[in-house]
Amino acid sequence: MKLDVVSLFPAFVEQVVKVGIPRKAVESGALQFHARDLRNYSDGADRRVDDRSYGGGPGMVMEPGPLADAIAAAKTAIGVEAKVIALSPQGLPMTQALVEQLAAEPALVLICGRYEGLDERVTPLIDFEVSLGDFVLSGGELAAMVLVDAMARLLPGVLGHEGSAEADSFSTGLLDHPHYTRPPLWRDAPVPDVLLSGDHAKIARWRRKQALGATFLKRPDLLEKLQISRTDAELLREFLSEHSGEKN
Ligand code: SAH
Repeated sequence: MKLDVVSLFPAFVEQVVKVGIPRKAVESGALQFHARDLRNYSDGADRRVDDRSYGGGPGMVMEPGPLADAIAAAKTAIGVEAKVIALSPQGLPMTQALVEQLAAEPALVLICGRYEGLDERVTPLIDFEVSLGDFVLSGGELAAMVLVDAMARLLPGVLGHEGSAEADSFSTGLLDHPHYTRPPLWRDAPVPDVLLSGDHAKIARWRRKQALGATFLKRPDLLEKLQISRTDAELLREFLSEHSGEKN
């Protein structure tokens, strides 16, 4: 996938591909990443890209000209059909389903706002807006970096078998099951026997049950959206009877 991120702070945005999985995605060639400095598209010698808001009030607005030029340059550099996404608190909430859909795109241009946001007249150049959540950041960079991280781990060949994304929270509609590593006994807390049994069918059943239980306890709203099968309903009942009386 090709990504071009337009920002006033390209050196900051680039940090997302300097470590961990996004870095691996770049190194493996699964991700081509470019951070584009919006100031290079300023039409003044002062490299300004913002101006006062018509109608008055505090806060500056990002001028349409430099944004349009930066988007055009990003599209030319990418060379294939690319969707343009503006990071905005008014956008579609960033869910795993949305991340999966975007990660399947061949190319994206991400626009990071600052100040009061973008001049409204660039709207026709933008395919849609994406939000990190119902709060206001001072800039779109962190939201873009979160999106890049979440997409990078879904790109083909980026996560190894051990790191497969399939069982992760939200991918199945449920939260993930608990994980344990060595030592087998730590501060009087043992690893559940079933995980040491080597019985893969039993382990899968236990994990499904824990995932259903965790989702029921922590995010009942997710469970309500799922049509759960009779087997799952049975597993959940089993989980609840095993955990009745426990504080959560
Ligand atoms: N006046 C705008 C907020 C501007 S905040 C409004 O109330 O809608 C400045 C920039 O930060 C925005 O242009 C956007 O790019 C980014 N931003 C702020 N909150 C965000 C969020 N929740 N998700 C994604 N980007 C956000």
